[in-house]
Amino acid sequence: MMSAKRRLIFKNKHHKQEIKVSQKITAVRGFKDILEQEAPGWRKIEDVARTKFLRFGFKEIRLPLVEKNEVFTRGIGEHTDIVEKEMYTFLDRNDELLSLRPEATAGVIRAVVEHDLYKQHPVLKLFTFGPMFRRERPQKGRLRQFHQFDAEVIGSASPVADAEIICLAWQIIREFVSQDRLNLELNSLGCRLCRPIHRENLLKYLEKIKETLCDDCRRRAETNPLRVLDCKNEHCKAALKDAPLLKDYLCEDCVQHFSQVRDHLNQFNIPYILNPHLVRGLDYYVKTTFELVATDLGAQATVAAGGRYDGLVRDMGGDDIPGVGMAIGAERLMMLMEEDAWEQAIDLYLIYMGEEAKRLALSLLPPLRETLSVYAPYEQKGLKAHMRMADKLKATAALIIGDNEIARKKAVLKHLVNHEQIEISFNDLAQEIKQQLCAKKETFNNTRG
Ligand SMILES: [Zn+2]
Ligand SMILES: [Zn+2]
Repeated sequence: MMSAKRRLIFKNKHHKQEIKVSQKITAVRGFKDILEQEAPGWRKIEDVARTKFLRFGFKEIRLPLVEKNEVFTRGIGEHTDIVEKEMYTFLDRNDELLSLRPEATAGVIRAVVEHDLYKQHPVLKLFTFGPMFRRERPQKGRLRQFHQFDAEVIGSASPVADAEIICLAWQIIREFVSQDRLNLELNSLGCRLCRPIHRENLLKYLEKIKETLCDDCRRRAETNPLRVLDCKNEHCKAALKDAPLLKDYLCEDCVQHFSQVRDHLNQFNIPYILNPHLVRGLDYYVKTTFELVATDLGAQATVAAGGRYDGLVRDMGGDDIPGVGMAIGAERLMMLMEEDAWEQAIDLYLIYMGEEAKRLALSLLPPLRETLSVYAPYEQKGLKAHMRMADKLKATAALIIGDNEIARKKAVLKHLVNHEQIEISFNDLAQEIKQQLCAKKETFNNTRG
């Protein structure tokens, strides 16, 4: 706990830093702005994911970004990399230890247990989306504030639930990447009955090869030996070649469950690769575990991951009920999406020149904006400058009202895609523009689809 004195020192230390007022302030390392070019891409992945979640019968919940530290030490496990090295944890002013959420599942379970949700519905299907925080080394595709789509099925031990969660992740990612660029890796991590026997044998094996392991693995061998199997270090990989694998230790129940999950994946027409080395960085996984890996994303290729966590609800203070879930990395999805899919066009760029034209143009904006996206510039410029701006904004059409048009009581509607130009009488101007542009939109969508 931070004493009043320490708090004072902390405060003074930070007040001493001299910062020139004229200096630019940059965002924190690993925390990225999503600027306006990228935002349409984000909206697209959010739309696709939401639509799929709803089609699979999941309901949305929205959770706080900050939780009591205990949610993660209990939920994820004290000896995981996330909790030991990567969490943003701080003492609040009332000396309460809080953490920014590094993943969603622990918080979802906290909320489910706190509100007794599973007592109202025997099987809960929940999804959530938002930022997560981990203090990892920032690199391409890995940020300290990153975003995840998260789905959880709580209250069912059925292998259909495992397969459905995998199918959900698969279908969302497949909207952005072809099947030949995506691998589903699958493993079973066993259960409370069969895992201890494997652990014992693994520890014996690790004891023999201890000298050849990297520092991380030597530490993990003490705290979380399963993670050693997952080490990317080439020396470790070689030394672990003959390490005992969980697949050879599964109990009858786990073998059955895993075989049924694979059957259901076949029924859902989803190809998979068995990877007996696949373990996850979180303590709570049992039985099914999986990763969806994009074959062309380099080092940060895991787009989604998840698995079964029977026992987690109990560890979080609830009843002993099973669960299975997955998370999709939104930044990775953005990396998979073609950049032209990000484009966001406006329907109409409204050009007015002169005071009378301005009055008419501004009065058109509310009715036009009922159905169209309309950009009306604030500054008066020449027609050429306006047309350049309309192009830059990828406007479908421009409406021109100048002195000429006022005199003839007709506006000019110019289609910027095919350069057609028509005149529209001032009577019922808004209605006519809407009709013209909606008709164009439909033919455009039809020829494209
Ligand atoms: Zn088992
Ligand atoms: Zn290692």
